[in-house]
Amino acid sequence: MKQIRVTVWNEYIHEKEMPEVAAIYPDGIHGAIAAFINKEEDLRAGTATLEMLEHGLSQEVLDNTDVLVWWGHCAHDRVADEVVERVHRRVLEGMGLIVLHSGHASKIFHKVCGTCTLNLKWRESGDKEILWCVNPGHPIMEGLGDHIVLEHEETYGEHFEIPQPDELVFIGWFQGGEVFRSGCCFHRGRGKVFYFQPGHETLPTYHHPDIQKVLVNAVRWAAPVNGPKQEYGHYPNPVI
Ligand code: ZN
Repeated sequence: MKQIRVTVWNEYIHEKEMPEVAAIYPDGIHGAIAAFINKEEDLRAGTATLEMLEHGLSQEVLDNTDVLVWWGHCAHDRVADEVVERVHRRVLEGMGLIVLHSGHASKIFHKVCGTCTLNLKWRESGDKEILWCVNPGHPIMEGLGDHIVLEHEETYGEHFEIPQPDELVFIGWFQGGEVFRSGCCFHRGRGKVFYFQPGHETLPTYHHPDIQKVLVNAVRWAAPVNGPKQEYGHYPNPVI
């Protein structure tokens, strides 16, 4: 079976500096995500972190990555621009990109969204969140129910300063009354991008089976398609 090759990238700072985060994710958020992805026969995940040479995202690693998962929060500005450019090129070539939670403020998400700011409202009060599915026929909803309950999550609220998503899969409702476009799909070049809001570092969100299912489905959805190579410009030979 041809496996989908996944690289899970994490800045990997909170887990080393905050014992309460390490207690939830002893192998790092990247380790937790890679572990449940690796339980799937058709998927194979490796990890990369900020501190590694080229942040673990050399051209060779990216050339052998079908889907890149991105978690970052406090060190977006420490990600080298040339690595961001490299990732962006691979997305346009067809590599899938899944941006998680506070990754909304990452350089790579800015790049794929084509904006300088991606603001939102936020509050760390541990409110309940209900993720409501608004696109039940979408591949990311395979095998899931019509909503997911998270007893505690960081509140993110609209307005979320993103370009209009090509497809919206989830709207998050928070106990405080806010709503948020929590699962957004974008197409960029040949690549597919999924932004998924849950995943605050002090909460066990990535241990929730439905959140794991969403991410596994998102990896399959975002994987590249072996479609035709395109030729552009002057085209002297008509097909018919
Ligand atoms: Zn957070």
